[in-house]
Amino acid sequence: MASSNSKSTNETARKIFKILLTNPRITVSWVKAHAGNIGNERADQLAKDATQHGQTYSLIKLPKPHINGLHRKSMLEEWQTSWKNDDTGREIYNLMPSVSLRPTNWIREYFIFFSQHGPFPAYLKRFHLSDSDFCSCGEMGTALHYATECIYTVSWHMSKPASNFEQEWLKRVANNLVSRHTIRGIIKFMSENRDLFRPP
Ligand SMILES: [Zn+2]
Repeated sequence: MASSNSKSTNETARKIFKILLTNPRITVSWVKAHAGNIGNERADQLAKDATQHGQTYSLIKLPKPHINGLHRKSMLEEWQTSWKNDDTGREIYNLMPSVSLRPTNWIREYFIFFSQHGPFPAYLKRFHLSDSDFCSCGEMGTALHYATECIYTVSWHMSKPASNFEQEWLKRVANNLVSRHTIRGIIKFMSENRDLFRPP
């Protein structure tokens, strides 16, 4: 079909089109496989031969969509490798290990909580934006603290993960719609009441 299409940009199709145009005696038809047709047998033989002695793909002009596909594939592989081996963003990597060109359905508040980059005293101290990593309640002000134990966020508390099971807990919370809604509430409340969480 590509060969009979005068507008096709595929190089092989163009070649065949030109040959057919300059040789009106040639007709194209479909033949049954293994029908003993000499021409067909010869084509099979040549195809087999090409797999062993043929030119490599890089020497042949491939169709553009095919090349685009190859580029996309190698780009995704490169992206995946660096996402896997990078040092930063590990909190999000643990929850989203696979790269994708499709946008996530995550909203701003989820990223703040799960990356732990937000209005948390522990984060502010780590990035030299504050002198203390303690919450005004006297405990360490981590993201987990606000989701499970701080007296100022009681309305949104979830059950605390057992020690060493923090990662599993985060995964479960990230994949649960109700929990994610709760996370959204905490982050919104904290963002709107930042002073409440600063140590005196
Ligand atoms: Zn607190």
